[in-house]
Amino acid sequence: MIENTSITITIDGPSSSGKSTVGEKLAHNIGYNFLDTGCLYRALTVATLQRNIPITDTDTIIKLAGDIDIVVKPSTVEDGRQYTVLIDKVDVTWELRSSSTDTNVSLISTIPDVRHLLTEQMRYIAKGANVVMVGRDIGTVVVPEAPLKFYLDASIDERARRRHNENMRNGQESDYKEILVNLQARDDIDTQRDNAPLKKPTNAYTINTTTMKPKNVLKEMLRIFHTVI
Ligand code: C5P
Repeated sequence: MIENTSITITIDGPSSSGKSTVGEKLAHNIGYNFLDTGCLYRALTVATLQRNIPITDTDTIIKLAGDIDIVVKPSTVEDGRQYTVLIDKVDVTWELRSSSTDTNVSLISTIPDVRHLLTEQMRYIAKGANVVMVGRDIGTVVVPEAPLKFYLDASIDERARRRHNENMRNGQESDYKEILVNLQARDDIDTQRDNAPLKKPTNAYTINTTTMKPKNVLKEMLRIFHTVI
């Protein structure tokens, strides 16, 4: 039997707590792959909305999740994106960040069969190579055996401000108040759902990033990484 020796470092936390910005830098620094698992849920949401499937039609959404081919690969275009996401070979990277995706993604993420399917994909990726994986349930459900877990948090005002600035930088329409309301609604759904809710893994290192610059969060994570791994 071939022993699985690949290492997964998990980073969980609410939206815009800094997970993907710092997670990607951490991965780059230590030579690991990087996977932002939110983009899988977002891609399924984009596919659902593109096909005008009602968000309440869970059977059709579950079938869609099994039928479509979602590919996440290193950025192919220099337009501010962190990575490129394809659905059935079509680039949907920017659609992932639209406000209609923001509004619907957490509802789609509550469907147990959808979570089951995507969780299996994430575990398959984790077995393949060393990876920094960010999401909501990575340290608690997807890879609970991970040797190093982080939980990033920040105040909701700061998270909304970050998201607003990111939209502006990317030339997208943005309304701070709307983002704040949307973030709160997503936080509520993500923390209160029955299946794999967002929570701090018991053995995770928590970093509150509200007043920290990304480079200092990274420094702290690297320090912990070198002590633990
Ligand atoms: O991280 P991001 O904001 O892109 O995630 C979008 C949504 O996907 C989250 O609000 C959450 O509902 C869902 N998600 C999840 N489990 C993960 C990653 C994301 O439920 N591991």
